[in-house]
Amino acid sequence: MPEPFIRVSGLRKVYRKREQEFLAISDASFEVAPGELVSLVGPSGCGKTTLLKVLAGLQDYDAGEVRIGSASHSFDPSRDIGMVFQQALLLKWRRVLENVLLPAEILGLPMRESRERARDLLAMVGLSGSEDKYPYELSGGMQQRAAIARALVHDPKLILMDEPFGALDALTREKMNLELLRIWKQSGKTILFVTHGISEAVFLGTRVIVFTAGPARMAANIPIKLPEPRRLDVKTTEMFGDYSRQIYHLLGME
Ligand code: ADP
Ligand code: MG
Repeated sequence: MPEPFIRVSGLRKVYRKREQEFLAISDASFEVAPGELVSLVGPSGCGKTTLLKVLAGLQDYDAGEVRIGSASHSFDPSRDIGMVFQQALLLKWRRVLENVLLPAEILGLPMRESRERARDLLAMVGLSGSEDKYPYELSGGMQQRAAIARALVHDPKLILMDEPFGALDALTREKMNLELLRIWKQSGKTILFVTHGISEAVFLGTRVIVFTAGPARMAANIPIKLPEPRRLDVKTTEMFGDYSRQIYHLLGME
């Protein structure tokens, strides 16, 4: 394995409210290599969003170590992370291109080049011709594509995705899974993909990290060796079924 890009060891996060303590993550340890797409799957409340916030530097933690980048490649969360959430969160008064440009504006990047890049990214996510539309003119899937382009516009090293396709219908979601794999291959980015969908996690991931709830802990880290490039019909294979069963079992759901 090349030098890891992300190293998490013994991570523990406790939320405290008055007298109450709530253990959101206990003893999570894993590594992510540069260019990997790692899925993180678990029931709601198991600490997935908390983990992404910790990685993004938006949330402190109680014990353990989190390192991103390396001595030779320093890492600045505000510059080097792109985030995609369950809702596209586009600004409704801005056209699609202007929405995609937002991170570049906030970071004060040169606008001419950023505009070029935003157009290229919109083409990459299949939204050429929609640059001047308003968000309400786009379908849910198209809005999420725009959100992905926005997450890439400042050329971050790491993309954190928090149930990005959770609000889409099943068919659009499968289509977006294929699109994401294509965008990942084309961009070469490191991606951490959070989902509560077991099938989605297995289909997308080079590895699947499984979190269980009550108490929240990391239960497994499973390399996924499905044939590449991944196609939807892989879901009907025995191998895919075996991976899924293994995860259902870990989550106590068989
Ligand atoms: P997931 O994304 O897997 O659904 P979260 O990371 O959002 O889980 O939350 C993990 C647990 O921590 C949940 O039980 C949630 O209620 C709790 N939690 C999340 N954020 C806070 C907070 N700011 N204060 C107190 N408890 C929180
Ligand atoms: Mg969450």
